[in-house]
Amino acid sequence: MDWKNLPGSGGNVESRQGGGGLPGGGIAVGGVGGLIIALIAMFFGIDPGAILGGGNGSSPQSQTQQGQTQQGQTQQAQPAADDEVYQFINQIYRSTNLVWDNVFQAAGRTYTDPRLVRYNRGTATGCGQANSAVGPFYCPADQSIYLDTSFFATMQQRLGGGGDFAYAYVIAHEVGHHVQNELGIADQVGRRQRSARTEAEANSYSVRLELQADCFAGVWGNKTQQDAKLTQSDVQEAVRTAEAIGDDNLQRQGQGRVVPDSFTHGSAAQRVKWFMTGFKGGDPNSCDTFSVNASQL
Ligand SMILES: [Zn+2]
Repeated sequence: MDWKNLPGSGGNVESRQGGGGLPGGGIAVGGVGGLIIALIAMFFGIDPGAILGGGNGSSPQSQTQQGQTQQGQTQQAQPAADDEVYQFINQIYRSTNLVWDNVFQAAGRTYTDPRLVRYNRGTATGCGQANSAVGPFYCPADQSIYLDTSFFATMQQRLGGGGDFAYAYVIAHEVGHHVQNELGIADQVGRRQRSARTEAEANSYSVRLELQADCFAGVWGNKTQQDAKLTQSDVQEAVRTAEAIGDDNLQRQGQGRVVPDSFTHGSAAQRVKWFMTGFKGGDPNSCDTFSVNASQL
């Protein structure tokens, strides 16, 4: 993958060092707690419970948030010019901005770029305190993607072997959640989840949302394949990652057994299928994971 020459647009990347609270000003969280909780399932697939520290309602979360803003300062580190990881993240992120700007424009809509926050160890977010254990995620409350880049090392060691296009897929998946937020899909799914009668039903909405984010990541891959000079082995990197983070594989590794009703992101086969659907066709309309039967996911 030739990521250094990817065209891009926009840019709001923040680097936070250390584990403190928000920089001055903070993020308003009032009134959106319920939505945050409903949408908190927008993680990449690792340990989503950790981000709220076990909190289960809007008001504990708001309190936590306020507490954090009163804590110490986060140092705003300016990335070194030779920081290749930063450059990589920035290029991929800016590329997604350009691709989704174009897709939205073609549909007569306007795309608002998300913010991307790179952090070390821990940071306060509009969705509660984050730490490295949660993996990359998108927070709809502050329209930001949070990325602890130590996750790339985890991918390399345990989750399919990594590789630049695999890391790009991770970022593009989180951007996919921002696209869902922009389109109002996330909101609708949140409402359906809250009226779900069983946990299995609520989980099934989460799976459809996650598979759609995978498909959107594939759409981005399709639209950058020439500029990025993608090869078959790049695509294989993303496929190996999608397999490794399938709920069945994660559950088999973590608890030794597979419980499909508790899936929140989809099986390995489903994640690969929807990523490839987006990648092959490059058409976001092919990513309608909500109108197909469960057996077709
Ligand atoms: Zn996700």
